[in-house]
Amino acid sequence: MKQIPYTLPSSAWQNIEIKENNEPLVLIVETKKLKIGWIKKHYQALFFVRKSVAEKLYKVSESLPEDLVLIVIEGYRTTQSQQEEWDRVWQTIKSQNENFSDEEIEKVVRLLVARPLPLANHHCGGAIDVTLGYLDGRLLEMGTPYITNIPEKEILPKIPMLSDKISTEAKLHRKILREAMEKEDFVWYPGEWWHYCYGDRMWAVYSGKTECIYGSIEP
Ligand SMILES: [Zn+2]
Repeated sequence: MKQIPYTLPSSAWQNIEIKENNEPLVLIVETKKLKIGWIKKHYQALFFVRKSVAEKLYKVSESLPEDLVLIVIEGYRTTQSQQEEWDRVWQTIKSQNENFSDEEIEKVVRLLVARPLPLANHHCGGAIDVTLGYLDGRLLEMGTPYITNIPEKEILPKIPMLSDKISTEAKLHRKILREAMEKEDFVWYPGEWWHYCYGDRMWAVYSGKTECIYGSIEP
């Protein structure tokens, strides 16, 4: 599948036609190779995704090297939980950058959280945040931790998928995850190393399609 490796402006989204296929949301269950929410234990996440996305995630996890597991950090979000996430990150950025204007804060927040609109990526059931771990529970070095706890300015340049500001080891780990996900037709978001999608508008945008199969969905 074609993958566009740089971030595109939001205008790119407007031309994507949603041909909703009405696939249901299903609960992701843990397996030996797929773990859930190791990172955001405080967060009341709903680990639902569209049915095909769940099936693909199991396949990705099974394809990983023997000592690695796929960790799903985040799946489907309701509009309300998306708003809470937006507000929480807004407050964190504000408290760490007291001289920022609202505009500057919003610029950083938008890099980290999708705007809480009905078509936000995590509201369509095709978006997931993932990383890799070892069987014993340790996380692989990815260059930065999963963002929501660490919005400091020096971390931000390390968040894009293809950042050159990270170690060779972290680059390799990102590549292992990326290649395993690509084999199942997931597309990665160039702006965040952990965000992948299948079937939603972002998926269409970053794979050069004009149509997608998942729009906004309520549980
Ligand atoms: Zn995400």
